[in-house]
Amino acid sequence: MKPPVLRCRHVTKRYGNFTALQDLSLEVYEGEIFALLGPNGAGKSTLIHCITGLAKQSSGSIEVLGFDTIRDFRTTRRLVGLVPQEINYDPFFTPLESLTIQMGLMGVEPSRERADTLLKTFALDDKRDAYTRTLSGGMKRRLLVAKSLVHEPRLLFLDEPTAGVDVELRRELWQEVEGLRAAGTTIVLTTHYIEEAERLADRIGILHKGELLLVESRSSLMGRHDGRSLEEIYLELIRKADGRPDA
Ligand code: ADP
Ligand code: MG
Repeated sequence: MKPPVLRCRHVTKRYGNFTALQDLSLEVYEGEIFALLGPNGAGKSTLIHCITGLAKQSSGSIEVLGFDTIRDFRTTRRLVGLVPQEINYDPFFTPLESLTIQMGLMGVEPSRERADTLLKTFALDDKRDAYTRTLSGGMKRRLLVAKSLVHEPRLLFLDEPTAGVDVELRRELWQEVEGLRAAGTTIVLTTHYIEEAERLADRIGILHKGELLLVESRSSLMGRHDGRSLEEIYLELIRKADGRPDA
């Protein structure tokens, strides 16, 4: 069997006295879409930040394709891409400039050809020379996804890609995620939209107060709970973990 693309071993993250992640172990395999579900504050972004180098775990280890994210930081940062939860953009740069700058930041040779391909893929070619601040919300999201891909990451993190996004754009993003996977990218996405995990994920992890309550393939999870929706299964698990089974 191939080694996992991502391996987290006993990862704990503390902020002062507060424990945001508690002894979390998880593996993600090549070519899969893994959905990390959990309520607000569960620790989803914290985990992604530890993996992508924006934060550092307090203990435990994280490997991407066998490289340690602290010891081999330069290597792992080239292997991972991140579409952050917050839309951040450079209002006075054009999409073309944003992509070119991102290539520089990621240490890849700026390539007009690669930028053009990404602009086309994400239907931004008409807007290549417009100020980013004039783009619609959907276009800004697509630009964020394009930026996360300039260095062709093997493992892509999408942190709540569809939070606050309208139905049409949500569906469009789902198609893009499926397209990326078809092109060979392994994907981890966080969401609190159950439907999103149900629709996209091969495997699902449920995170609650910094602890993984469950990691299972979607089909076995659904099969085990004959006829019940993922939402019902999820709510029951969260309530049990909170010690309020009948809530
Ligand atoms: P999620 O992405 O699942 O909504 P987060 O990972 O953002 O959750 O946050 C998990 C918990 O860690 C929250 O209680 C949050 O307030 C806390 N937290 C996150 N970042 C910091 C930080 N930099 N300093 C202190 N606490 C933090
Ligand atoms: Mg978050």
